[in-house]
Amino acid sequence: MKIATKFIHAGSEPDPSTGAIMTPIYQTSTYVQASPGNHKGYEYARSQNPTRKALEDAYAIIENAKHGLAFSSGVAATDTVLKLLQPGDEVIAASDMYGGTYRLFSKVYEKFGIKFIYVDMNNVDNIKAVITTNTKLIWAETPTNPLMNIVDVKAVSEIAKAHKIILCVDNTFASPYLQNPLDLGADIVMHSATKYLGGHSDVVQGALMMNDDKLREQLYFIQKSCGAVPGPQDCFLVLRGIKTLHVRMQRHCENGIKIAHYLRNHLKVDKVFWCGFEDHPGYAVASKQMRGFGGMMSFELKDKNMEATMKVLSSTHLFSLAESLGGVESLINHPASMTHASIPREERIKNGLNDGLIRLSVGIEDADDLIEDLKNAIG
Ligand SMILES: *Cc1c(COP(=O)(O)O)cnc(C)c1O
Repeated sequence: MKIATKFIHAGSEPDPSTGAIMTPIYQTSTYVQASPGNHKGYEYARSQNPTRKALEDAYAIIENAKHGLAFSSGVAATDTVLKLLQPGDEVIAASDMYGGTYRLFSKVYEKFGIKFIYVDMNNVDNIKAVITTNTKLIWAETPTNPLMNIVDVKAVSEIAKAHKIILCVDNTFASPYLQNPLDLGADIVMHSATKYLGGHSDVVQGALMMNDDKLREQLYFIQKSCGAVPGPQDCFLVLRGIKTLHVRMQRHCENGIKIAHYLRNHLKVDKVFWCGFEDHPGYAVASKQMRGFGGMMSFELKDKNMEATMKVLSSTHLFSLAESLGGVESLINHPASMTHASIPREERIKNGLNDGLIRLSVGIEDADDLIEDLKNAIG
């Protein structure tokens, strides 16, 4: 089945009691049993909910996975993967990734005795160099937030398999429309569904997708035991979002191409970080593992004076200054003080995330209007 058909029909079966074409919002905390243990597979809503089940089925389908699990946020999904580990275990993660993931690793899990080793994943040999017998998880994100670096998922998965290490890929930036890490050999895919999957900036949610039955059982056990489950309203919103994911992504990609080139040709703009440029170091891998380049990009002005950067950030009208990404409306963000403020400044700059970096989430408005907005703000 082709992507467009798959995304629209994923997880949606007419409601058995009424035939409703959209899965109802089952706003209930419990389910009545005829006699103890005599139920229809639903006992208590932390463990199972029909709206969540429809979404979890959809999650599996859109990532070509056998199983999907829904969580109350992207970070809760990440947290669930980390709970597979024991004290003494080691995790290899990218030195350039979402600030909240770094915060969870360094501020929460390090104190439980889990060790994190950060490497530049542009070169997979850097991963090989730090593997030990304690390495249990490789955490990759591609394209990375906010520098748009590319990790070769297939190459990393071969290393992971050879050493029996779980590979989890944060696929938030690409969305399943552009990339399917399980098909490239990853064991688990993680999404902040708050972003492209929901797509309308009205819900916070996370997802995990996997093929392995045992891994699904372990992750479901943690989901149920720790309780970071989404409510049925939120599941409904993401289910609805997924139905238009392919149409939205097509426009995000088209607008992304136009805006990346506009910025690159702008006299006042220095570097533009976008993986669709042929001279981007990850271009060859991105072209191989992705079906397009999306609407996320970052740039720096030639004028390194912070006032110039701040002026752009506060002068756009269509690009709203806000954290988050992946919604239909365009957003502008200052990673150093907003989304990535939890990473120590030295660490940030060492990894190439400068104080003057501006990140754009290009929405699906008319590209000419967006360019006009940037033109007025940059001058
Ligand atoms: C937003 C984001 C997360 C965290 O997801 P939440 O839904 O905000 O908890 C993780 N990874 C990436 C790449 C993100 O952009």
